[in-house]
Amino acid sequence: MLLCDFHIHTTHSDGSVELDKVIDLYGQAGFDAIAITDHVVNGDTSLGKLAHRFRYSVRADSFDDYIGHVRSEAGRAWEKYEMLVIPGIEISKNYLSAEKSAHIILLDIKEFIPACMDYKEIFLEARTQGATIIACHPHHMSDMSPDTLFLWKNREKYARYIDAWEIANRDDVFNVISLKKYPYIANSDFHKPRHLYSWKTLLNCEKNTESIKQCIKHNRGVAITLLRNEEA
Ligand code: ZN
Ligand code: ZN
Repeated sequence: MLLCDFHIHTTHSDGSVELDKVIDLYGQAGFDAIAITDHVVNGDTSLGKLAHRFRYSVRADSFDDYIGHVRSEAGRAWEKYEMLVIPGIEISKNYLSAEKSAHIILLDIKEFIPACMDYKEIFLEARTQGATIIACHPHHMSDMSPDTLFLWKNREKYARYIDAWEIANRDDVFNVISLKKYPYIANSDFHKPRHLYSWKTLLNCEKNTESIKQCIKHNRGVAITLLRNEEA
């Protein structure tokens, strides 16, 4: 099965590790497929404006550079490690209220999508681009990050647009996802080197972007595993 992680940040947003070093870290750890998913933060709130000021967000005017960099590193990752790298973003709708906030990974994105668009518009635009839509950390989290509960609270309305939900994110496991029998994957939400050791996805499919997207969507041959640090 393919060892995968579809939720990784770099210094293109608020990650602490540069993209090329992230590629080497995952390549040397033996991963088969990863996605780089830097934040695209909504700029229409005070929280969002701060993220833009500190450059913790990919923006309309930096998107092409970001995707270009991911694609060139993807070429190197394949040459050196036979590791597939999928370009993505994490649409980050941050509000003071957790009930209004949500983070959404879009895998295999081609064009910029602003995070201040409404949810349905984002989903429809992502589908037009052929992107896979993943609801991130959809329930209460154990760490200090603000919760993002909008999609879970409004699942009756929006589940039809979502290809898979994070059943695990880093150290958290969200059992509500399995109770609802929703399609699932597990990701690290990598921001720092120690986050390599966290929940991951195993996929029983071919190592190419289309097969991986189909495997996530149909959610057969999917397993989760906790990657541990052998030296710890
Ligand atoms: Zn997030
Ligand atoms: Zn994230």
